[in-house]
Amino acid sequence: MAFYSNDIISQLKNHADIADVIQQFVPLKASGTNRYTGRCPFHDDKSPSMSVNSAIGIYKCFACNAGGDVFKFVMEHEKVDFKAAVEWVARATGFELPSLSNAKENKAALEERDLVQRLNILAVEWFEKNLAENKEVLDYLNQRGISEETRKKFRIGYAPNKREGLLALAIRQGFSPRQLVQAGLATEKENGGVSDKFRDRLMIPIQNLTGNVIAFGGRVLQKDAKPKYMNSPQTVLYDKKNTLFGLHHSKQGIAKAQEVIIVEGYFDLISLYQAGIQNVVAASGTALTEFHATLLARYAKTAYLVFDGDSAGKEATLRSIEIVLAKSITPKIFSLSRPNGEKIDPDNFIQERGPEAFLQELKTAENWLDYLTREIQHDNPEDKANFIHRVKSIISLIPDVELSQQYLNLLSERFGTEASFRGLKPSLKVSQKTGLIKEEKSSQIDVSWKAISPTELRYVNLILQNPAVLKAATLIFNLEFVSSGISLLESPFLTDILGLALLQYQETETLNLKSLANNLSDECRDILFSLPEESWKEENAIREFLEMTLDFEKRFAERMRFRTEDIEFKLELTTFTTKLKRLLADCKKMKITPNEQLQQILNFRQELQLFHRTLQGN
Ligand SMILES: [Zn+2]
Repeated sequence: MAFYSNDIISQLKNHADIADVIQQFVPLKASGTNRYTGRCPFHDDKSPSMSVNSAIGIYKCFACNAGGDVFKFVMEHEKVDFKAAVEWVARATGFELPSLSNAKENKAALEERDLVQRLNILAVEWFEKNLAENKEVLDYLNQRGISEETRKKFRIGYAPNKREGLLALAIRQGFSPRQLVQAGLATEKENGGVSDKFRDRLMIPIQNLTGNVIAFGGRVLQKDAKPKYMNSPQTVLYDKKNTLFGLHHSKQGIAKAQEVIIVEGYFDLISLYQAGIQNVVAASGTALTEFHATLLARYAKTAYLVFDGDSAGKEATLRSIEIVLAKSITPKIFSLSRPNGEKIDPDNFIQERGPEAFLQELKTAENWLDYLTREIQHDNPEDKANFIHRVKSIISLIPDVELSQQYLNLLSERFGTEASFRGLKPSLKVSQKTGLIKEEKSSQIDVSWKAISPTELRYVNLILQNPAVLKAATLIFNLEFVSSGISLLESPFLTDILGLALLQYQETETLNLKSLANNLSDECRDILFSLPEESWKEENAIREFLEMTLDFEKRFAERMRFRTEDIEFKLELTTFTTKLKRLLADCKKMKITPNEQLQQILNFRQELQLFHRTLQGN
């Protein structure tokens, strides 16, 4: 039976305000931002026991445990099936559902993705097999210092010099030549014939975050053959603008260090990774894009940019600085050279001087402002004015108001300019000048979620991956707390993920990430999807969770303190945060047991709710 795609359903769910829908059946009263209470229609409710959260898109009854999303409400209330509920919600909220005959198009798109995926699997296995059987190419890899383990980890392969190698294999397996062209693995010749795209090349698979091969980079083996690198074209699975090579392998390392090294080439990354420096990614075949930076901002606070000296490289570095700063990542710039001063790439550097020397170079990385001061002329008043304009426009991209003010102050101290953006001509905004950021924004991939704090990401990950923590978390984030309008996390997306996960756990006593994902918006699903894999010992997990929760309680109190003008209230909040800090210190020294900590967290939660109510009342 034809049905609406998951995409459409989740779009509709994002579009529909659950409170609006429920109000068509039951009167609701606001109890906070995006929060409502009302009499539950599913049991004989005397007092308003049902709570509705339109930010998370759920309703829940304290008394009879009825609960779910907007579709569930309509299904239960109107006694209709899921499809009818979807159509009802669409009609009630003015959402245009595609006619179900269009579902065919959705199906076609899904089928194409599936097809390209299967061809990529076929190709990567075939390339691997060819390499394993080719001594010459194995020797070449040896020469480059690539170990067998690394070769297997990155699934490096070899495309033999045949016009119809992969093509013949794929056809034998029932694929058509056209399908290989669709997958970017074959090219159409002028006479209409089709042949293998990659021939006599070392094949480096490009994997997405889950590790599926979505494209290839092919490197020549003969020194003077051209082009040196040939990449897969854009396909339904691959767009170089939103793919970072190596991130599948390195995301854990990056999240752990909260720092990322951004290099240019596949082999720069592979060499560093093999040498044990694993917080590294490569933007290959394109300059760093805004999407790349958004992706990295989930894991890293600092980005090391390699600077290679020529003027094209200089411009690229400058653009990268702007792009990462706009995503709350602090750029640091470093360069690599031989003892004689000749610049070299990270791959060569590692081969010649080893990882220790590399880490040493990293330590000398320059602050981005120092780098700009060194690279951009500012000797006479005209140049100086231009320089200051340029730097101010870069500073204006920094989302953190306090941080951007600090940079303005620094600029003002060093160059005697006013510490404000006054007089900054919008036309001078670098993002517009280069057209880069603007162009990215209008591209199809619209990632609206802002950079998320790696600490918050880790926190949510910790809860989702540890059943014992999950259980403790449901004690802390009970419905009363969740619907009180207090959100310990700053990211609304993580708040949604956590809220739904805990709700699911309360309802079913298990957490099924798949069904969680089904109920999340696209952005949240992306975040959930990209959480690094990590494992904790149960005891450590609980301790870390409790400490982080205390820390988030403290931060929430600090944000309240920041928002209020009332001096006395500020003072109370200061006393409160001091108490929290002291307890945090005790926890770190393991002076108190996890159970005591949990008790304290629950007490603090009550206090936070009181403070919050006071603040709302003001
Ligand atoms: Zn009820």
